[in-house]
Formats: sequence, C-alpha cells, structure tokens
Amino acid sequence: LPDPDVAVLTRGDLDLMLPRPGQETDKYRRGVLGVAAGSDLYTGAAVLAVGGALRAGAGMVRYAGTEPPVTQVRAHWPEAVITLLDRPSIENVGRVQAWVLGPGLGTGDWAHELAAGVLASDVPVLIDADGLTLVAKDKELLRRSAPVLITPHAGELARLIGADRGDIEAARLKYVRAAAAELGVTVLLKGSTTVVAEDSRPTRVNVTGTPWLASGGTGDVLSGMAGALLAQGLSCYDAASCGAYLHGLAGRRAAGGAPLAAADVAAAVPDAIRSITGGS
Ligand code: AMP
Ligand code: MG
Repeated sequence: LPDPDVAVLTRGDLDLMLPRPGQETDKYRRGVLGVAAGSDLYTGAAVLAVGGALRAGAGMVRYAGTEPPVTQVRAHWPEAVITLLDRPSIENVGRVQAWVLGPGLGTGDWAHELAAGVLASDVPVLIDADGLTLVAKDKELLRRSAPVLITPHAGELARLIGADRGDIEAARLKYVRAAAAELGVTVLLKGSTTVVAEDSRPTRVNVTGTPWLASGGTGDVLSGMAGALLAQGLSCYDAASCGAYLHGLAGRRAAGGAPLAAADVAAAVPDAIRSITGGS
C-alpha cells in the first residue's frame, strides 16, 4: 500500500513552488546568497557551489574564503561578489538572505570558527559536507532560531545521528524522518533517490536523477542550487524539494546517457528550469 505520508515530487509541484522574478524586481530582492565553502586544499567545491547558485537564479552570490579558492571562484564566476578572508569571520561580507556552509570548507579550527559565525546569523543556513562534519563534532552549532537545511548523503547522516550507514540505506525514510525530528532541522538525504523530510510534513521523494550524477562535485552544485532557492525566499522544505528535482533533471539533461562532470550539471540548470516555466 502507498504510504500516505510520502509524496513523489512532480513537475506540477515544481511549477507551483518555483520562484519567478516579478516585473519590477532587482538583484537584491531576487535573493542574495552567501557561500562559505572551499579551502586552500579544496578550491573546486567553492566554484561548483557558486555555479549552482548562480544558475539556479540567485540575484547575487557573495563568496567568502581564503586566497586559493577566491582566485578560482573569481576566474570561473566574475559575477560573484568576493570577500577575501584574513580571519574566519563573516563580518565584512555584507547582507545576505541565506548561507551555504560547508562544501570543501575543511574541518579544522578556522572552519569551525567560520561555521560558528555563519550559524550565529539570523538567516536560513544550508549545511553540507565538511559543515556536517563540524556539526557532528559540535552539536551546539545547531542551536539557532533561524531555519537549518542539511543535505547529507547516507554516510554523513550516519555520522551525524550516530547510526550505522547500512541501517540507514536499508530504511531511508525511517532514518531521515527521525533525524529531522531529533535535530529539529529539514533534512535532504541524497542517494539514487533523494528524500526530503521535515517534522509534521509529508516526506517528499525525488526520482528525477540519473546514476551518472554519482560523480565528484555534483553534491556541491546541489548545495548552491538549494541555497539560491532559500535566498529567494522558499522555505527549507520547498528549497530542498525544488533543488533536488531540478538537480536531477539537469543531471539527466547534462548526461544524456553518457558521463557528466559536475560543472555540466550547473550549466544544465537553466534548461531544467525552462522545462518547468515554459520559458516565460
Ligand atoms: P554527494 O554525495 O555530495 O557527492 O552528492 C552526489 C549527488 O549525486 C547527490 O545529489 C545524489 O543524490 C546524486 N546521486 C548519487 N548517486 C546517484 C544515483 N545512483 N542515482 C541518482 N543520483 C545519484
Ligand atoms: Mg558531498
């Protein structure tokens, strides 16, 4: 029997949820996203998250990082507004409507302090990758009143809730709901299908993806995309749902039955959005 508390995301759902710019809008009202990602070692994660955000319709992306990722983000995305950090603080970044925290950020003291600063803000925060490692080590970071969306794969969720990865893989719905309730956050669990859970909401499942998406960096693109939707004013629940749906669709289009690179997924996002909006 179908589970009444599970809904498979459809094109019609996306049509209702997707933000469209109003006639008199401007870049600030379209959604300003802050990205705290990348590190001296992992510069690519920053480039991919910023790319996902720009292609998913952020009015502006503010990137904050150290010199190596800043150089790469500048080279790939001249559209991004950059703050070069000489200490782990977001004080000089300027106003944003949401943050993406974590892809390639590292897990040392610098990253921890930057994460604490981002999470001390009063806007929604999407936490992924190294951000989830930091939170697993220091649960106090999650004590905030503004919304939190986490985007783990099964391994990251296992570490976060102290469960076994295999147990999660065998009962994804059960664990993703338990995590959302226990942590008081919205959870997007990645995998061959993507599950979005929030307490007292129907669990949403996305099936638009393709196994060609199982490739390094695609998760970073998803972070930027869902972050951009958060910055545009969607709830964590809707931003996660739309992000997962469009990411799967973009992956399918980028792959076309052949390998893709994560940057190709970001490039295919406008086409995926066009297939929902009809180009209007
Ligand atoms: P990450 O685990 O952060 O590298 O992100 C990988 C991305 O690829 C997520 O959006 C997953 O949902 C997606 N993905 C991974 N494996 C598959 C698969 N077998 N089928 C469809 N999507 C996948
Ligand atoms: Mg990842």
